Amino acid sequence: MNILVTGGLGFIGSALIRSLLDDKNNQILNIDKCSYASMPEALEGKEILPNYSFKKVDIIEAEKLNSIIKDFAPDKIFHLAAESHVDRSITGPQEFLNTNILGTFNILESIRRNLTNLPKDFILIHVSTDEVFGSLKFDDSLFAESSAYAPNSPYSASKASSDLLVRAWNKTYGIKTAITNCSNNYGPWQNPEKLIPKTIFNALSKQPIPIYGKGINIRDWLHVSDHVNALIKISNTEEHYSKFNIGGNQEMANIDLVHVICRYLDEKIPMTNKYSDLITFVEDRLGHDLRYAIDPSKLKEDLGFEPGYFLENGIKETVDWYVDNLDWVKSKVN
Ligand code: NAD
Repeated sequence: MNILVTGGLGFIGSALIRSLLDDKNNQILNIDKCSYASMPEALEGKEILPNYSFKKVDIIEAEKLNSIIKDFAPDKIFHLAAESHVDRSITGPQEFLNTNILGTFNILESIRRNLTNLPKDFILIHVSTDEVFGSLKFDDSLFAESSAYAPNSPYSASKASSDLLVRAWNKTYGIKTAITNCSNNYGPWQNPEKLIPKTIFNALSKQPIPIYGKGINIRDWLHVSDHVNALIKISNTEEHYSKFNIGGNQEMANIDLVHVICRYLDEKIPMTNKYSDLITFVEDRLGHDLRYAIDPSKLKEDLGFEPGYFLENGIKETVDWYVDNLDWVKSKVN
């Protein structure tokens, strides 16, 4: 099976590749532009494997992308290359439109141009986010696959746009596609600009732990390895057009999550004061969505998928990992 992964040097893409490489029948080609968010360290040692190769490619480069898809003739493409940080999308949205919208368009066009030469069961798995659905109130019901799109940030608007392009290329040109909308991921190798690694790093460096607003914003959290397992299952779907919400049914307010991390650090690496004394409330993010929560029942009913991690255990394991890999985190912060 020839599998092309875009953005495979990122947090989720590298976890996906580590998992796909467990099957020796998979031939993996990873393309990534090596942006600030890329982490070749997460795939260290893999470059010598006969079933893994890497090419530095920006998905904005349509012709390069086209010849890669033509030559490699993938059975599957997992499309994860994206600008992924909401705060960066607020200060500099252009890059998000370029990569997330135009880049996805280039992938779709390359597939369309080569479709007759791709394997019969070719599928594009377009990895997207629950943020496309906008914000829930505390007592609203969960996002379903059929929920209306209502993105509120430049990031989520760019991802929503890319989802709609994928849908259109499926309906118009007959490309087999699966669109996945996943909740917030956590786990090893996440860029320390994101909440969980930032909290751990700042706590261990005895720096203020910033929390937007009052920290009441709720997210549904899923361990990255659960996300990866779900993606691999979904990639075997027989549906020609499918959409799956991926979530953990594990909602938590940001402030509570930070307290879970601080309490665990108090036990693991005690200091004179409590780590939670470092919590500092900062001005809220513009357009900050109050709550995301995913109904993952379709994934369970259709594909029998359930997450393997409970949040508190997953967080403890994640804290352990960052403590053990603090030098790597430092190198990404500086
Ligand atoms: P990430 O920022 O860690 O990694 C993104 C990768 O894409 C990086 O290696 C980067 O170099 C690469 N990239 C960026 N622009 C590119 C371009 N123009 N051409 C080629 N490569 C490019 O992101 P992540 O957290 O691993 O997220 C991966 C995907 O999953 C994204 O599409 C994101 O929207 C989606 N997602 C993420 C989460 C989450 O919690 N992290 C949740 C749901 C969905």
